[in-house]
Amino acid sequence: MPIHELSKEIASKIAAGEVVERPASVVKELIENSIDAGAKEVNIRIEQAGRRLIEVGDDGTGIPAKEMQIAVRRYATSKITSMEDLDNISSLGFRGEALASIAAVSHFSLESKTRDENNGMQLLVDGGVEVSFLPAGMKQGTQIKVENLFYNVPARQKFLKKDPTERQLITELVTRYALFYSAIRFHLTQEGRSIFMSFGNENRREILSKLYDIDAAKNYLEIDFQDTYAKIYGFTSPLNMTFSNRKQIFCFINGRLVSDATLTAAIIRAYHGFLMVGRFPSTILFIEIAPSEIDVNVHPTKDEVRFRDSGHVFGVIHSAVRRTLSTFMPLPDFQMPTWNSSSLPERVIDPGWEFSRTENHHEPALLVQRNDPLQEDESPSIAKVPILRLIGQLGRTYIAAEGPDGLYLIDQHAAHERILFERIQNLPQQGTISQFLLSPATLMIPARLNEEFYRQKDILEKIGFGFEEFGPDTFRITAIPAVLQKMDPGVAVLSALEPEDHQEGLIEGEKDKQTILKICKRAAIKGGQVLTIQEQEQLIRDLENCISPRTCPHGRPTMIHISVDLLERQFGRLGSR
Ligand code: ADP
Ligand code: MG
Repeated sequence: MPIHELSKEIASKIAAGEVVERPASVVKELIENSIDAGAKEVNIRIEQAGRRLIEVGDDGTGIPAKEMQIAVRRYATSKITSMEDLDNISSLGFRGEALASIAAVSHFSLESKTRDENNGMQLLVDGGVEVSFLPAGMKQGTQIKVENLFYNVPARQKFLKKDPTERQLITELVTRYALFYSAIRFHLTQEGRSIFMSFGNENRREILSKLYDIDAAKNYLEIDFQDTYAKIYGFTSPLNMTFSNRKQIFCFINGRLVSDATLTAAIIRAYHGFLMVGRFPSTILFIEIAPSEIDVNVHPTKDEVRFRDSGHVFGVIHSAVRRTLSTFMPLPDFQMPTWNSSSLPERVIDPGWEFSRTENHHEPALLVQRNDPLQEDESPSIAKVPILRLIGQLGRTYIAAEGPDGLYLIDQHAAHERILFERIQNLPQQGTISQFLLSPATLMIPARLNEEFYRQKDILEKIGFGFEEFGPDTFRITAIPAVLQKMDPGVAVLSALEPEDHQEGLIEGEKDKQTILKICKRAAIKGGQVLTIQEQEQLIRDLENCISPRTCPHGRPTMIHISVDLLERQFGRLGSR
C-alpha cells in the first residue's frame, strides 16, 4: 500500500499523545519500522546515549522516492486505511506518527531505496522543516539518522535520565527485540563500542546467553503451551535463579513488546510459594492470540494493549508458567515449612550454656540488659546484644535464643546480612581484603548489565574484587573479598550489578553502600536453610560483635525480643496491676 495521510476522522480515533519521550522511544519506533519493512538486518548506532545520534539502518523494502516526503507527515502510513484494519493488524506500526514526531524534534535524515529504483534519495528535515531532498547512492533499504534529539525542546531534555540509564534502556530494548525477532540480525553499537549482536539464526538461547550469562541461559525453562485461545511460549527462570525486581519479566503479544500489569501478575503468581518474598523470576513470554482479542490502540507508544477478557488471559498465562515449573522442577526444598511438627527440624538445646557462654563475655554487654536491650540506643561501643544461649533453629529461618531478659528470635538471613555488611564495609581498614583465587573465574558481562559493570568496577575493586581483562566484555575474577570466599565469584559480581527496585533516587555517596548491600543480600544465609548448631552459635557470636546488631543493613530488625515480663503476663503469672 502506498504511504498516504489518514483521514481526519480516523486520525482522531488514534490514541493521541507523545510518541517520542526519550532516545529509547526513537529507537523503538525505528526498529519497528525496519521490522515492518521485512528487514533481515538492523544496525543501530548510538552516540551520547542517543542525544547526539541515533542511527538505524535496515535492508528492508525501502520507501519509494515519491513517498518519502509524505512519510514524514503526521498520520501518514502505508499500514492501514480504515479502523477495521486495526482488528486484523499484522504490522507493528499503524499510527503514521513516528517519523513526523521524530523529525519535528531533531536534525533528521531519511535515506531510502527500493529494489526497483536505480538510486536512493536523501531527505533532510530540521525541526520539522524540510531542508533538502536529493539523490543519494545506497543499497536497498532505509537509513535513518536522528541527530541532536530535542535540540528545539529543552524542556524535554530535562526529563531525560543520566546517560548510563538512557543507554541501558536502549540496550534493553534492542536485546529484547532481538530475542523475539530471532530471524533478524541486530547489531547495536554505543559510542563506537559493539554492545550487542545477534546472528539472525533463530537461536534464542544464544541471545539469552548474551543477556544473562551462559549458564543462566542454559538453565532457563522452556514454556510451550497452546490451547484454542492462545499460543504461549518463551522462557522462564528456574527456582534457583531469582532477581530483586520484576524488570526481567517481559512479554511480546503478537510481536509487540508490551508492559502489562495483568501479565506480570499472572507470571509472579505462578511462582507463588516457590520463591522467597522479595525475589522475582525472569520470564520472557511470547503470546500469540487472535488480533480481535486485543485492542492495540490504547497507548500512543503502543506498549500497552487491552484484552477483551483479561481474566481469561491471567488464567491461561498462570497455568502455562505454573505447568512449566512443575514439569521441570522437583519440589523446592526452600519452601517455607508449615508449622506442623513433622516438617520442623529437630530442636536443639545445649544444657551447658550457662558455663560455656557467659564466661567468655565481659561485663559491658550486661550493662545494657537492665531494660529491654532492643530499646536501647546508647554509645555504640557497648554491645547491644546481650549474651545469648542458643535454643535452636525454628522453621529453618529463625534462631531462638535465651537472654537474661527473655526470649530472642533472630532472623538468620537478616542477621547474616548485617554481619557481612559490617565486615565488608570495614575491609579497607582491616588490611587483608582480598582472597586471591587460584583458578580465576571467567565472567562475561551480559549486555544488559554492561553499563552497570563499568559504573561499579571501581567500587568492586575497592572492596576486594580483582579483575583482569580477558576479551571483549569478558573478565577474569582474580580476587574476591575474603569474607565472601564461600561465594561463587561470578554470582557475587553479578549480584552487585542487578538493579534494585527503588534505586533511582539514590544519592551518589551511597553508591558504595548500595553495592555492598546487594552482594550481602545474595551472600547471606537464606531463610529456609538448615544450620548446624555450630553455625547457629557462630551467627549469634558474630552478631554480638556488630556495631549495629539490631537491624539488617536495610533497616529491618534482625531480632525480636519477648521479655520475661511479657511471658509472665501472657501466662497469667503476673497480674496487670
Ligand atoms: P507507521 O509505522 O505507523 O506507519 P511511521 O511514521 O513510523 O508510521 O512511518 C511512516 C511510513 O513510512 C510507514 O508506514 C512506512 O510506509 C514508511 N517507513 C518508515 N520507516 C520505514 C523503513 N525503515 N522501511 C520502509 N518503510 C518505512
Ligand atoms: Mg512506525
